[in-house]
Amino acid sequence: MRRRSGATCGASPRSTRNRRDVRTQVGIVGAGPAGLFLAHLLQLRGIESMVIETRSREYVETRVRAGLLEQGTVDLMERTGLGERMRREGLAHHGIALRFGGRSHRIDFDALTGGKGVTVYAQQEVVKDLIAARLAAGGDIHFEVRDVSSVDVAEDRSIGKTMLFDAGHSLDERILAEQFVD
Ligand SMILES: Cc1cc2nc3c(=O)[nH]c(=O)nc-3n(C[C@H](O)[C@H](O)[C@H](O)COP(=O)(O)OP(=O)(O)OC[C@H]3O[C@@H](n4cnc5c(N)ncnc54)[C@H](O)[C@@H]3O)c2cc1C
Repeated sequence: MRRRSGATCGASPRSTRNRRDVRTQVGIVGAGPAGLFLAHLLQLRGIESMVIETRSREYVETRVRAGLLEQGTVDLMERTGLGERMRREGLAHHGIALRFGGRSHRIDFDALTGGKGVTVYAQQEVVKDLIAARLAAGGDIHFEVRDVSSVDVAEDRSIGKTMLFDAGHSLDERILAEQFVD
């Protein structure tokens, strides 16, 4: 990892709070499935990133939303080393039965799609797996950040953009990254 961090006590734009600068290649705003997947895929390509999230880890890991994964997501999770728990705990569906006119009509996903199905595995479980993989790989996720604001040009012009946020404990953190994704 190329990330470097160093504590500084320079004046932040907000106050005289302590400020720490962190350099990374890609700053990612939001630890939802999109941000976490992006961080995971970048990591596999050897690109460092940092994820910031306003909510707590517990909140994003228990936030109930989608419950079903389509085949593309299942394949992506398998391909990128995230499939173990999904395979064990998820419920693969290869078809459904629609009943009308006194008869049952099976919609056979496998036959109609050349082997694609859906897997019941809730979004919050995917998020848990992504967070666990990210942390196991030594990646950074900052939860419960506040007052996120972006500044277009860093003082160090070799770095494209900066993002400033309240990291808690009287500390403002500034991420200097080549790219930000939100
Ligand atoms: C109630 C509900 C039910 C749903 N059901 C289904 C379903 O059945 N099937 C389906 O396919 N999809 C469903 N969806 C949609 C699915 O949940 C979304 O498509 C998915 O969450 C999008 O992922 P994301 O990572 O892009 O965004 P999100 O999951 O919204 O993640 C974005 C993250 O960014 C954080 N954030 C926002 N602003 C900032 C900031 N300034 N700084 C730092 N962090 C920030 C948020 O706290 C959040 O954690 C549902 C959505 C909802 C709300």
